Amino acid sequence: MKRDLYETLGVGKTADEKELKGAFRKLAMKYHPDKNPGDAEAEKTFKDISHAYETLKDPQKRAAYDRYGHAAFENGGMGAGGAGFGSAGAGGFSDIFEDIFGEMMGGGRQRRSSGGRERGADLRYNMEISLEEAYSGKTAQIRVPTSITCDVCTGSGAKPGTKPQTCATCQGSGRVRAAQGFFSIERTCPTCHGRGQTITDPCAKCHGQGRVTEERSLSVNIPAGIEDGTRIRLSGEGEAGLRGGPAGDLYIFLSVKPHEFYQRDGADLYCSVPISMTTAALGGKFDVATLDGTKSRVSVPEGTQAGKQFRLKGKGMPVLRSSQVGDLYIQIQIETPQKLTKRQRELLREFEELSSKDNNPESAGFFSRMKDFFDIE
Ligand SMILES: [Zn+2]
Ligand SMILES: [Zn+2]
Repeated sequence: MKRDLYETLGVGKTADEKELKGAFRKLAMKYHPDKNPGDAEAEKTFKDISHAYETLKDPQKRAAYDRYGHAAFENGGMGAGGAGFGSAGAGGFSDIFEDIFGEMMGGGRQRRSSGGRERGADLRYNMEISLEEAYSGKTAQIRVPTSITCDVCTGSGAKPGTKPQTCATCQGSGRVRAAQGFFSIERTCPTCHGRGQTITDPCAKCHGQGRVTEERSLSVNIPAGIEDGTRIRLSGEGEAGLRGGPAGDLYIFLSVKPHEFYQRDGADLYCSVPISMTTAALGGKFDVATLDGTKSRVSVPEGTQAGKQFRLKGKGMPVLRSSQVGDLYIQIQIETPQKLTKRQRELLREFEELSSKDNNPESAGFFSRMKDFFDIE
């Protein structure tokens, strides 16, 4: 049987935030494992009070607890969305602990790093390529400004011939313990800033940083068929780590420039082609240039309508890492002639007089069909 959370903390159901905090603080001081080494009972009590405090300090969790009791946090209670519920395990301690004693510790959470080794930052490089380049793929040479390990001191930060010294303040651990009331609080060593070492004779090239900023030339393989918005990760090509830490990654963010004539949809390409009214009526031929550097002939039959699509098989984009290729769709637009001469107008009028319903089956019957449909005069 689980104890009531309010009882655990020794407060009433109406306790406010301040009361909760005060009660937890008092109990935490008494039962903290640092004060009771090897006492399993104290450790359990500490876990219980930590859990009680963590639950009750959160208004949402508290409301759920008030309503449903412990059942609120059992499986199926609040579901997966309630991550972080349940008993505060070993990992849960430090969070609440820093939450409540944070002000005492003089700062938030600090990333612990052994011997000051730090992973280098990831870098982002934006690259824009043409549709033609996306079609054929390419090897791009890029210049990346980045921090690399200093070659003079090989990353130690110490002048060649000298060595970094073990930090006297923390004896090389990078952390110091300071007494705060009943507790001893661990914090980053102020002398070496967590490195565990101090450099008395810094390297002249990197000024003791162990890395220098340089422009590197990198060759990046852009595979054929790559899509706009693709992210290419080059592992370990990011910023060098600090003091022997691993390098970060380089991310190439790729965008494909809009093309003058072709629109892309996955592996397929679309090209809108305007033809004259007479070509559409009489039929004709035209050539389109395709991305493979050749041209393709399109035959337009007599009586071609606007919006008609012609498919050029295999003239689209290659599919990434496969032998498949998309198609190219030619979409027909019909251009109505403008700025007619007197003679052209006469010819068109004469043409109209000679026209029958069979010439324009769609438009001829359209309005009478619409009238019938809506039953209007
Ligand atoms: Zn150096
Ligand atoms: Zn130190």
